[in-house]
This record gives sequence, structure tokens and C-alpha cells, in this order.
Amino acid sequence: MSRTDYAGAVNALVDAGSICVVTHVRPDADAIGSATALMLGLRQRGKEVRALIGQDREISGNLLSIPKSEEIELTQELPLGFDLYVTVDCGALDRTGYLAPGLERAREEGRLLCIDHHASNEGFGSVNLVDVACESTTVVLIDVMDKMSLQVDRAIAHCLYAGLVTDTGSFRWGRPSMHTLAARLMRYGLDTKQIAVDLLDSTTVEDIQMLGRVFQSLSIEQAGAHSLGILVASLDDIGGHTDSAVESLVDFVRALEGTDMGVVFKEMAPQVWAVSLRSSTINCAEIALRMGGGGHLPAAGYTAHGTASEAVAQLVEVMS
Ligand code: 5GP
Ligand code: MN
Repeated sequence: MSRTDYAGAVNALVDAGSICVVTHVRPDADAIGSATALMLGLRQRGKEVRALIGQDREISGNLLSIPKSEEIELTQELPLGFDLYVTVDCGALDRTGYLAPGLERAREEGRLLCIDHHASNEGFGSVNLVDVACESTTVVLIDVMDKMSLQVDRAIAHCLYAGLVTDTGSFRWGRPSMHTLAARLMRYGLDTKQIAVDLLDSTTVEDIQMLGRVFQSLSIEQAGAHSLGILVASLDDIGGHTDSAVESLVDFVRALEGTDMGVVFKEMAPQVWAVSLRSSTINCAEIALRMGGGGHLPAAGYTAHGTASEAVAQLVEVMS
């Protein structure tokens, strides 16, 4: 069975009357934009569609600029009885948080479609559309929606563009076609300047002060032949700050001179760290997989436990 089954994905979506869309916990713009674009597109066909995230934490304010994002429900329980369950932008089943056990049952029943673009995704659905050539999951969805002859409108274009502009680092990495797709979406009248402010640039005094505190922690660690630039963002530092500010930390170490990899340890709960890896020379997905996570070659992540120095030591040991 193919991991990149466009026809199977389209057939499953066409056949289903009711569809439950699930995206990943700690969502980014590609997660939200994928869920809302698919929801809006499928509703054109009169289908019953809900979109869910299996976490308690509110979606960060900047992502609520994406059309219909306010309709995404936060829930601990997967509602039963849908013809089809679709995960979008989830590289592994555990990225669906509370909803993973329910989705596992949906897979056993042959009702789980996995749409994604992560290199580390092995295809955890009963039908899988994992296209690792795509810059974002929204790029995969443009193809799916075209194959279904769904009509892109301004709202859907906004959702799709949100994933494209953020997952390409503002069009810094990707195929030539990312620009063609951006041009196509812009023709629906998108205010791309405002979208960039909402999703990428908007910040607050408190968040800038938080960044300053976290930058004090910058250190260089040697791991075998590699040099890691490491930021440690403790709960004391980042508690109460926006996800967008916390997620922006990694951009400052992704290409630090004299290092091969940038790493940010973000303490999400006491001694529970969301770890971000970035590199242009080392395969981040492979290291993240060894640590129980996943992602793409240049950008990946995993969860670590313990004190900050224990979490750093675990990574250094695995890479040495
Ligand atoms: P970020 O560092 O921005 O949180 O994540 C970078 C990439 O790694 C994203 O594509 C994300 O999906 C993936 N990733 C981050 N954390 C995890 C994790 O705990 N598990 C898996 N499977 N992937 C992760
Ligand atoms: Mn993505």
C-alpha cells in the first residue's frame, strides 16, 4: 500500500458523508490552515464536517486570524460515528494528543485518512497521503481539492496560504512551484502583508523581554563531531507567553555561526520539554526519531523529560 495515495485519499473524501478532521496539538499555521481549508472545501459538497484538536490549551491568538479557525474544537474525546476521520499535518499518531486512542480505533475500522508532508511519517492511517515533496500540508491539500474539483475561494485561499508562507519560512525554502502556488492563491485577493503581520511579525513588549531572558541561556555544546547552539526556555521564562513568541526562539539558532545544529528546549510543564531541532547539514528527523519524535530533515522535534541539564545531556549522548 502506497504512503502517497492521492487517488485513495480523494475516493475516501468523496465517499464520506460526514468527516471529522483532526490536526496536531500545539498547532502551527499549517495545522490550522489545513484543517480549516479542508473543512470549508468539504462543506461545499454538503458534507457534515467538524475540525478538532486533542488538547486543553487555547489556540494562540495569532492563529485565530485564519478564517474559520474559531470553529476548531478543543476536546479530550473523539466523537464517534463519522464516516471518515482525517488527520492533517500530523507526522505521527501521538501528535493528535487526547484523540490518539479514538483514531487508532478508526484506523482498525478502515476509516482513518492521514494527509501530511513530514519525512518521518510512516503512514499511520488506513489510507495515507504523505507527500514529503510538499512544502506544507496545505500544498498537499491544494492538489486534493483540485482533484475533487472543489472551488478555492478567498477564505480557502487564505487558509492554504497560511500554511505555505509559514512552512516555507516565508518562501526561503521549497520548490520553484511554491511561488506559482503563492501567486495563484494571491489572485483571490489575499492581503498577504496583513497575513505576514498576523502570522509572523506581530509581537508584544512582554514577549520581546521574554526572548531577552531566554537568550541569556545561549550555550554551545559539543556532541561528538557536532557543535550545537542551545537555548533553554524554562517554564519560569515562557509561562504565560504566546506560542508564536516561544516558537520564534528557534529562528535565532537555526544558523548560528560555528554550529551545525540549533536546539531549543521549551519547558511546557514542569520537567517536560518540547525540543526543536534545526540544521542545514544534519538530518534532524533522524535524531528526533531516535528521541521518540519526528519531523523533516531540516526541522524536527521531540519531547524530553527531566531537568534542563538532563534533557541536554540526553541529546548530546545520542548525537555523540
Ligand atoms: P517544531 O520544532 O517547530 O515544534 O517542530 C519541527 C517539526 O518537527 C514539525 O514539523 C513537527 O511536526 C515535528 N515535531 C515536533 N515535535 C514533534 C514530536 O514530539 N513528535 C513528532 N512526531 N514530530 C514532532
Ligand atoms: Mn506542516
